[in-house]
Amino acid sequence: MPERPLLVFDFDGVLVDGMAEYWWSARRAALALVAHSAAPAGSVAPAAWHLPEQAPPGFALLRPLIHKGWEMVLMAAELGRPDLDLDAALADYDTFLGAALRRWGWTTAQLQQALEGLRAEAIATDPDAWLALHRFYPGVEERLDRLAAEGADWAVLTTKGGAFASRLLAAAGLTPLALYGHEQGSKPSVLARLLAGHDPAERPLWFVEDRRPTLELVRRTPGLEAVRCYLVSWGYLGPGDGEGLAPLGIRWLEPAGFAAPLALWP
Ligand SMILES: [Mg+2]
Repeated sequence: MPERPLLVFDFDGVLVDGMAEYWWSARRAALALVAHSAAPAGSVAPAAWHLPEQAPPGFALLRPLIHKGWEMVLMAAELGRPDLDLDAALADYDTFLGAALRRWGWTTAQLQQALEGLRAEAIATDPDAWLALHRFYPGVEERLDRLAAEGADWAVLTTKGGAFASRLLAAAGLTPLALYGHEQGSKPSVLARLLAGHDPAERPLWFVEDRRPTLELVRRTPGLEAVRCYLVSWGYLGPGDGEGLAPLGIRWLEPAGFAAPLALWP
């Protein structure tokens, strides 16, 4: 009998390329926070701080390391510093992230709220312009449509606010079985809830993601052994992310594999 998995897709970097929107919204959120903050702490000199309209190259380099939306706003603020040490940020992102939070004196909640408030306003005032900053990766919409014919359900699990992912899917006429945004908890905890109460032999869970550390975390999480993990080749990957996956129990998914019938997936 063919397998009828529940496919759980990450959103950004798997289904949708929103790189244009990330800078657009992160830049504006950072500008708004700076405008409403006291003078930033530490080494940030307001006169020298500048955020260009076009994303600086460092933003694309940092993107594979960014996990949550609030980090994107903080990284935008950092990219406006003329004395930013980008190599140090890329070499040890977690340390850099902590130092950046202290430098600006913002809370993660404040950063997330700035981002989501700005997105909500963009959708309310000019939804078409906001939607146009995103594109589905080639073949994704057709492939999702075909899943139903294969008897497979699909869901979305994202660190984005659920409402924003939902808006983009609805605009494309796509309806997942379920959609889990950052409001529903961490990805491992949502996967654990999805596994609970189902026999993995009857309904296997396949998780498709473009952030390797997230897949490694799933692999390290007790109770999630039955989740089949895929890293997609087309997302926001860092250098070397596609190497040495097999010993970790992570499968590599390229566009041709994604387009193939589920029975032929790696
Ligand atoms: Mg992603």
